[in-house]
Amino acid sequence: MKMKPQSTPLQTALVEGPLPFQAIVARDTSGKSIAEPASLELSDLPAGDVLVEVQYSALNYKDALAVCGNRNKIMKSLPFVPGIDLVGTVVESSDPAFAAGDQVLATGWGLGERHWGGFSRYARLKKEWLTPLPAGLTPLRAMALGTAGLTAMLCVEVLERAGVTPSSGEVVVTGASGGVGSLSVMLLAALGYSAAAATGKSEQSEYFKSLGASRVVPRAELDRDAKPLEKELWAGAVDTVGSRTLATLLTQIRYGGTVAACGLAGGFDLPSTVMPFILRNVGLQGVDSVYLPADRRGPAWRRLAELLPAAQIDRIAQVAKLADIPDLAQKMLDGKTQGRAVISLES
Ligand code: NDP
Repeated sequence: MKMKPQSTPLQTALVEGPLPFQAIVARDTSGKSIAEPASLELSDLPAGDVLVEVQYSALNYKDALAVCGNRNKIMKSLPFVPGIDLVGTVVESSDPAFAAGDQVLATGWGLGERHWGGFSRYARLKKEWLTPLPAGLTPLRAMALGTAGLTAMLCVEVLERAGVTPSSGEVVVTGASGGVGSLSVMLLAALGYSAAAATGKSEQSEYFKSLGASRVVPRAELDRDAKPLEKELWAGAVDTVGSRTLATLLTQIRYGGTVAACGLAGGFDLPSTVMPFILRNVGLQGVDSVYLPADRRGPAWRRLAELLPAAQIDRIAQVAKLADIPDLAQKMLDGKTQGRAVISLES
């Protein structure tokens, strides 16, 4: 086990005994899952190769489902610590790939679903789940991006690989005020695309303009029953909503265009027909960032850090505390949040 020579309070505690720390813990209370702040000790944490002192986590849609009692859909057992994203400093590692003091981040891999996650001051993780913090990104900004940023980057890369270029025409992003949506608009704009923001919050046009959106499309224009084929409007799309929204999008994609589908904020069904695929050569590519292979993560994170200026990332980030998570999670499920809620574990 590699240890730094100087002794921090945690390192002293590792030798001398348990150190209580704060976490959000979901427990079974009379058959219902309740997630609230609780005190844990290092001995409570599950086994893992690397112990990380967490600086920041972030609230994602999946975390909101876990925190608000939708246990069966997200968390595989109780008691459980949710949180699919984290960034922090290695305290100790049983693997030579990491040493005390290294700054690392982790997203996905079942963190916050199958394995205790980031809503905790300390986390024990498998070494394969850790990505070194990319140069030029602060820990706070890494979590302002988090799973949402990685997913948005992958969605944009799907469009690029499908041959959708800035000169192909307008690209639309659904759920545009959310984490994945906001970051997709920002990335597309940074790459020179004309990105329309489809949203239920069309009154906030200044916000979307500040992200670089070309225009705002009211949610109701897409969240409706569609004809099998409609007027060709979009060269491509990033869809975080699913259901009727995705089905309508498919009918409006130009000949040979592509949709990168990553979310289900509006529902997991897809009431569509084969017409866009067989008559307009439209592509539909799913995107998953959770089990993205480790060798693709570093390049995607580095590209994110290069493309998005710090001031732009700061525009979408709001910092909250662990104790704020239950309220924020409910607001997120009610569609009342915007951008990224970064959770500070430092206090
Ligand atoms: P957020 O909650 O931050 O954003 C979701 C957005 O969707 C909302 O802000 C809202 O935007 C819109 N929305 C909410 N409810 C509805 C509704 N009933 N109908 C239509 N639109 C709605 O979530 P994230 O950005 O973190 O995640 C977005 C989706 O992507 C989620 O379904 C999540 O599970 C999925 N996801 C998938 C990943 C993958 O690897 N495949 C990784 C990360 C997320 P607005 O008001 O602007 O319309």
